[in-house]
Amino acid sequence: MAQPKEKEEQSLKSIVAVSKRRGFVFPGSEIYGGLSNTFDYGPNGVEVLNNLKRLWWEYFVHRRDDILGLDSSILLHPRVWEASGHVSNFNDPLMDCKKCKTRLRVDKFLEDKEGDGAATGKSLEELTNHIKEKGYACPSCGSVGTFTEARQFNLMFKTAHGASEEGAMDIYLRPETAQGIFINFKNVNQISRKKIPFGIAQIGKSFRNEIMARQFIFRTREFEQMEMEFFCEPGTQKEWFKYWVDYCMNWLTNVVGLKAENLRVREHAKEELSFYSDSTSDIEYKYPFGWGELWGVASRTDYDLTQHESFSSEDLKYHDLEAKKKYLPYVVEPALGLNRLFLAVMCDAYEEQTLEKEDIRTVLHFGKRVAPMKVAIFPLMKKDGLDAKAKEIYQDLLPHWYVDYDESGAIGKRYRRHDEIGTPFCVTVDYDTLQDGTVTIRERDSMKQERIAITSLKSYLFERIL
Ligand code: ATP
Repeated sequence: MAQPKEKEEQSLKSIVAVSKRRGFVFPGSEIYGGLSNTFDYGPNGVEVLNNLKRLWWEYFVHRRDDILGLDSSILLHPRVWEASGHVSNFNDPLMDCKKCKTRLRVDKFLEDKEGDGAATGKSLEELTNHIKEKGYACPSCGSVGTFTEARQFNLMFKTAHGASEEGAMDIYLRPETAQGIFINFKNVNQISRKKIPFGIAQIGKSFRNEIMARQFIFRTREFEQMEMEFFCEPGTQKEWFKYWVDYCMNWLTNVVGLKAENLRVREHAKEELSFYSDSTSDIEYKYPFGWGELWGVASRTDYDLTQHESFSSEDLKYHDLEAKKKYLPYVVEPALGLNRLFLAVMCDAYEEQTLEKEDIRTVLHFGKRVAPMKVAIFPLMKKDGLDAKAKEIYQDLLPHWYVDYDESGAIGKRYRRHDEIGTPFCVTVDYDTLQDGTVTIRERDSMKQERIAITSLKSYLFERIL
């Protein structure tokens, strides 16, 4: 059942608040009054990002013998974007309110009003007329009939390449990492001698001058992508497409640990497909503001390689020596946004629990591999050798996990602080520790406490943290 609107907004607000309070995400350029739609990831946020990247790399590169990694430039030759179609087609329809100057992305505005697909297939003129006929008001100032006509807006950020004004060439910050993979297909193929089917994966920043950047880190102008292009023989793409949708869903639920009920696969209808794609599905997550695309899986045919072959005049065909044939492979692309995954992970993990006496505990139930810190060590008091013993345990665990040493405030407060960071285990050193060499270990989700020997602490943690 859908949640009431205020509740949804409230839950996103709570996530934004805990993100700031616990050093996951800060507003960008804050001491200068902020720069809208930019965010900085704090000490705990960067740990979660790195853990997610590591898990993705592990499952999409290291554990497979058919995928290799790449780190291509953000700045590519401008012809790349002509070949890929981004210069002519990477547009969103926009419209301004003449009264308050609010700028809207027309397709999203219409989808918010009428549901998914409401703008699909409509020309700019049809969009303009549709909005006029319906008499939709400006969401900022409430005026009716004050919208300009819808027009196209290219989402690529332009910059100049070169120091002198005359010699400078207009280039773009990449709007996706995929094209860096296509233009390196020949290089990777030559050095690796991999046989088709094989994939090339990369993680990196992309930039889009989004008209309606919004919903915290869901849609930003600077973001990070984890993309993989899987090159396969024409005719096998349908099979691989299904394979990769399943593989991605499995990674999200079994490795990252997202709840299956918050994920769904939405297949694109024919009229929604890009002209070069023969199948596309979005893996969507149920964010507090509704279902939103998390991971796009697209079967892109041989469009990109054909275009680059034609624009660069390089032969990009694959030589199948056994079958004695040359062809341009087809491509299946799972493209995931790291920041949207981060938001999904935060939303999935967030819980406010009402304990006894109306006491509210905020806890982030991160999967253990995703949690920023794995263990926190607390001395009961900062004296009588308890702190020295706790530091000794801390030092002993450091080579294995990212561990916190925390001696400030009451133990209960320290537990709560680490519940909000999502630390799976807290270890307390007390007076008994000095006598019998045992510590109390408290598990985040159940809040259960156990007494265990320091000598078995590492094996206890190894069994529970992968
Ligand atoms: P949308 O329809 O939401 O704009 P898209 O279909 O244009 O997304 P793709 O080009 O398929 O997105 O990009 C692959 C992935 O990159 C998306 O599934 C999403 O996770 C991420 N992504 C795309 N644009 C943004 C953005 N502006 N901010 C954050 N992540 C993004």
